Amino acid sequence: MQEIRMVDLKGQYEKIKTEIDSGIQKVIENTAFINGPAVKEFQKDLEVYLGVKHVVPCANGTDALQVAMMGLGLKPGDEVITTSFTFIATAEVIALLGLTPVLVDVCPETFNIDPEAIKKAITSKTKAIVPVHLFGQCADMEAINDIAKEHGLFVIEDTAQAIGADYFFKDGTKKKAGTIADVGCTSFFPSKNLGCYGDGGAIFTNDDELAKKMLTVVNHGSNVRYYHDTIGVNSRLDSIQAAVLKVKLPHLDKYAAARNKAAEYYDKAFANEPRLKIPVRSGNSTHVFHQYTIVAEGIDREGLIKHLSSKGVPAMVYYPVPMHLQKAYTDPRYKEGDFPVTEYLSKNVFSLPMHTELDEGQLEFITSSVLGFL
Ligand SMILES: *Cc1c(COP(=O)(O)O)cnc(C)c1O
Repeated sequence: MQEIRMVDLKGQYEKIKTEIDSGIQKVIENTAFINGPAVKEFQKDLEVYLGVKHVVPCANGTDALQVAMMGLGLKPGDEVITTSFTFIATAEVIALLGLTPVLVDVCPETFNIDPEAIKKAITSKTKAIVPVHLFGQCADMEAINDIAKEHGLFVIEDTAQAIGADYFFKDGTKKKAGTIADVGCTSFFPSKNLGCYGDGGAIFTNDDELAKKMLTVVNHGSNVRYYHDTIGVNSRLDSIQAAVLKVKLPHLDKYAAARNKAAEYYDKAFANEPRLKIPVRSGNSTHVFHQYTIVAEGIDREGLIKHLSSKGVPAMVYYPVPMHLQKAYTDPRYKEGDFPVTEYLSKNVFSLPMHTELDEGQLEFITSSVLGFL
């Protein structure tokens, strides 16, 4: 049996090696390392795939969030509502820009931001909501968009973990994750569902004016070389990374199917074990399984992870510390006990290996190793 990894980028690469190698080689040959043709080509391909008017490539997913907030003109003192259960980047950029992060709890079933909690957190200073489509499944976007509309707020989707997921509206229409609200932000970090071979990110919008502003922000606040109209940043997707992404994008749906197949194997194996709560599908979104995350109920989670590790099965906790209990984000507004669902999840979730290359033998070994501990 092949070594079991949380993510198997090597196995995935082997299958598309010829195309990837020639894509990278082409960039090296033409030496257009920055803003070369590969960047434009990938940008267009992604616009078509997502059905969105504008894709603004940038250097990473954290920058994508920052550039979106700068493009929307958010100012110090503005309050931005986001989830207490996410990767740090989401809250980090809010704080970095001098905006005020306002945290709210998540739904226990989907791990995504709770629209009822958003309503309660709105004040006269609230300017935006940042839902995160955690682990590969969309937040309750229809409810979130309704709240935003009622209060005149922007909605910025953090779709770093859910690129390719479809969101279904009550009227039967659907949209791709990241294109459902004012602006969507994603990451092409190698382990993400659409990962490059270094850092990368992108921002999506259907708003022409906003796209123009964000294109200016990522380019040092400049439209004409050496003339700077606003304060911007330097955030570019390299041509080599774009060449990799251009090859991988046509495989994205197949990759999501492979992840779902692994998820279904896990589901079946754990169906009769009430102490393992398998991921709940929300019903209004497809799941692209960035992570397969289980809630362990009444189990020694750390003991289980140690047991798995001794058998060569990696398992991870995403995320062990809620946002409001992170040292850097200590804030007199928040204390332990404020976000009970997030706190419960932090103590009880664990994620099993999830990637496009898991085979039945590996899945059998992983699931029997888990069940063997119980
Ligand atoms: C990965 C991730 C980011 C940040 O992306 P980087 O490319 O690593 O900067 C932001 N939000 C979420 C939810 C993520 O998972």
